[in-house]
Amino acid sequence: MNGDAPPGWPASLPRCHCAESRGLAAFPATLARAVEAAIFNAEVAALIEAAHDFGARGWTPATSGNYSLRLNRDTLLMTRSGVDKRRLDSRGLMAMTSDGKPLTEAVPSAEAALHVQIYRSLPKARAVLHVHSPAATVASRRSAARREIVLQNYELLKAFEGVETHSVQLSIPVVANHQDMEPLARSVAPFLGRPGYCPGYLIEGHGIYAWGASVADAARHLDAFDFLLNCELLETRSP
Ligand SMILES: [Zn+2]
Repeated sequence: MNGDAPPGWPASLPRCHCAESRGLAAFPATLARAVEAAIFNAEVAALIEAAHDFGARGWTPATSGNYSLRLNRDTLLMTRSGVDKRRLDSRGLMAMTSDGKPLTEAVPSAEAALHVQIYRSLPKARAVLHVHSPAATVASRRSAARREIVLQNYELLKAFEGVETHSVQLSIPVVANHQDMEPLARSVAPFLGRPGYCPGYLIEGHGIYAWGASVADAARHLDAFDFLLNCELLETRSP
């Protein structure tokens, strides 16, 4: 994979361990590397496609939002600061260490520390998606005092990993916004990996973070959150 890194990515980008994590380690080494590269390229392509989809839905106005992929135990790919995510391509991504140090000259998204925290706390998370969708922004403001939104008795709850029935309660944490990532990460920490945990959280008046074991999983979670938050907001308008 090192030979086909896009411009701006380090030539010595460490190997992706996608194949091992998907049980493909038994493949002959050259084939495993080809499979690994194909999976990695597919994940980057899926991330770019998701970014365009979210952009078209009005979730990332004015260069807002940020996305990342876990490449392996030591390395992440992160969107660069100031990039219009509606037109994201591979030049808008940069490599970082798993503790958030850039591996190139580029500047990462301002909220990269929150992605790092999710990957560090949740070993199965491989993609993190953050958008400023209107439903997430408004719902977070309306629920700021309660510090959570409880979703229950929705068929679409089954879109979340591990949920097999509508008759569960899913509590989405709502944390206060902050321009300093350290206090923001501190207030998120108690919710990551708690029992019956929810693969996302809201930041008041700001937006939503969602994650999953692949880009497809994280995107499905984000899609479901947006639908369910829209339903909650519609209910507040019902007579
Ligand atoms: Zn944001």
